[in-house]
Amino acid sequence: MSLYILSKEKLPEFVKALQAKFRVVGPVRTETGYEFDDITDPEQLQLDYSTTILPPKKYFLPQHEVLFQFHSGPNGKGNKHLELRPIYQDVQPTVIFGVHTCDMNGIMLYDKVFAEGFRDEHYMERRAQIYIIGIECLHPCDEASFCKDMGTLTAPPIYDLHMTEMDGHYLVDTGTEKGERLLQENLYVQMAQKEDIQRLGQLLSAKWPRFRMRLKVSKDQTPSLLALGYKAKIWEQLGDRCLACGSCTNVCPTCFCFDVEDRMDINMQDGERARVWDSCQLREFALVAGGHNFRGKKSERVRHRVMRKGKYIKQVHGLLGCTGCGRCERACLVNITIPATINGLHDEMQLESGS
Ligand code: SF4
Ligand code: SF4
Repeated sequence: MSLYILSKEKLPEFVKALQAKFRVVGPVRTETGYEFDDITDPEQLQLDYSTTILPPKKYFLPQHEVLFQFHSGPNGKGNKHLELRPIYQDVQPTVIFGVHTCDMNGIMLYDKVFAEGFRDEHYMERRAQIYIIGIECLHPCDEASFCKDMGTLTAPPIYDLHMTEMDGHYLVDTGTEKGERLLQENLYVQMAQKEDIQRLGQLLSAKWPRFRMRLKVSKDQTPSLLALGYKAKIWEQLGDRCLACGSCTNVCPTCFCFDVEDRMDINMQDGERARVWDSCQLREFALVAGGHNFRGKKSERVRHRVMRKGKYIKQVHGLLGCTGCGRCERACLVNITIPATINGLHDEMQLESGS
């Protein structure tokens, strides 16, 4: 849409102006790194952060979310009946500042997952109130990143505003009309000039060599590699190492599996149903009636996670289920990583085919 210039000195003023109308969240520094949290003072906002332990997914999909409350009991005619009252939790106008391009790709996947097929009204209600202000990644977060392999090094078209730091100010691209309105209400931005746009092009071109490739196959080859390697030995090797702790899925910006919990009041008539984050890496995830577990072995669960990331989600939603953010690699105590798994599988398949 349009490109504006926001000077760095004006950023606190912009944040304060937004706070008058919105809940503003963004990356803040903590004792252990960075995390997305509420911004009460613009000085807290750390737009030059490396990465956060958790992605901003908690604002889209709360860890514990009440979906509805229920009441069961006799109606006026003495017949038993059930009343349901939907609850829309955490639905409030929210601006999320400083979202990296990998995490925007994760949000783009959520937007498809929760809108396609069984449309999730709870997600959609919350999503409609969220404004995304991205920040261009000019340097890799750290050694665990492989966003370049996964094609998430550029901003997908889901942002309302997208900022690139350049020569002591921010170039701000407007992605939506609602984003444009956020800026227009604030008179201290200026339209970018031709030379600013040229300089931005140079800056964006210069960033690519800073990011390394880690995968031995292209992202488009991963679905067929995974199909070929379904019975590979690597899954047993990874299963022997895996602790089944679920950290990798908890920190992942594209994992969205949840459990459903019903809580009944002591009167046995009122209660609520909630969804809570779950992990396919936990033994109980696939435990069903009669004590049967259809993914009882850790090797099966590790394989399932990687299959979802590199194949199954793409088949259903057209996007890969991994953004290359590297969070699972940072979180895993036994160093099970997506790049090493894909590369190991590639090597095993090469050996098997004798090439
Ligand atoms: S699988 Fe790992 S690297 Fe890929 S998106 Fe999830 S946390 Fe990030
Ligand atoms: S973080 Fe590592 S050890 Fe824990 S479940 Fe995931 S792969 Fe297994």
